[in-house]
Amino acid sequence: MRLLEVENLVAGYNHLPVLHGVSLKVGAGEFVAICGPNGSGKSTLVKAIQRLIPFVQGTIRLEGQDLFRLKTREIAARIAYVPQVSEPIFDFSVEEVVTMGRYLHQSSRFQGLSEKDRAAVKQAMHLTEISDFRKKKISQLSGGERQRVLIARALAQDTPILVLDEPSSHLDLNFQLQIYQLLKRLQQEKGKAILVAEHNLNLCIPYCHHLIFLKAGRIEAAGKPEEIISRETIRQVFGIEVELRENISTGLPEISLIHSASRREIK
Ligand code: ADP
Repeated sequence: MRLLEVENLVAGYNHLPVLHGVSLKVGAGEFVAICGPNGSGKSTLVKAIQRLIPFVQGTIRLEGQDLFRLKTREIAARIAYVPQVSEPIFDFSVEEVVTMGRYLHQSSRFQGLSEKDRAAVKQAMHLTEISDFRKKKISQLSGGERQRVLIARALAQDTPILVLDEPSSHLDLNFQLQIYQLLKRLQQEKGKAILVAEHNLNLCIPYCHHLIFLKAGRIEAAGKPEEIISRETIRQVFGIEVELRENISTGLPEISLIHSASRREIK
């Protein structure tokens, strides 16, 4: 049994499909990346898996159970979701936001925090290096710091599956790497299943087992990165010409943009 199984998913907004029959599987300890151009439906797909999309057809199973029959609390016990960073609506402190991860699958908020809860919050803040500013308000943080707080909240939730929507988008190069290295450690050492929507191919290739290329709401290619990445696939999915090189230490493909074709005189 897979932790997450999506079969023939059709999903969208106002009864208009954005995804047209998407299927995927994520097993325990697997790292899966969904890549594709802007507007290809990556975000819609990861939101649909969270039951956050109004219009959905097809099947989504979590640990073999139909997503639409599970209680919100039961979903939160299985999947922690890291949304894209946005402006905060409520101004909680960093520590309060991370602590929310512990409440999400409790039947009542009034149970109070146990020692285990406090330890999980502390460890999540330590792993994401936000302990130093745990008393700060969310509104006082940069986009990158906020991103790490959201990842910490998901870690504190302590679920078998982590789903992240563009986790690198507000991070500098150093933190992009650190976040992916942290995700890899969680996958290898704690057996977590990781599903990321990511537009930066070079960033996710070295970390994922399985890569899914999405284009206009359909899966264009799926498989191990080294098996499916070619100039032809990148051209088909992103509509651009690239150069491919093999990274000598990992043996994995690396993609370089070709800039000369689009050079224009600047007056
Ligand atoms: P990606 O994450 O790959 O950039 P999205 O899933 O955000 O793509 O968007 C896919 C399509 O769905 C786009 O055409 C976008 O305009 C549309 N879309 C996204 N969110 C909404 C929404 N809330 N209401 C209506 N259309 C939406």
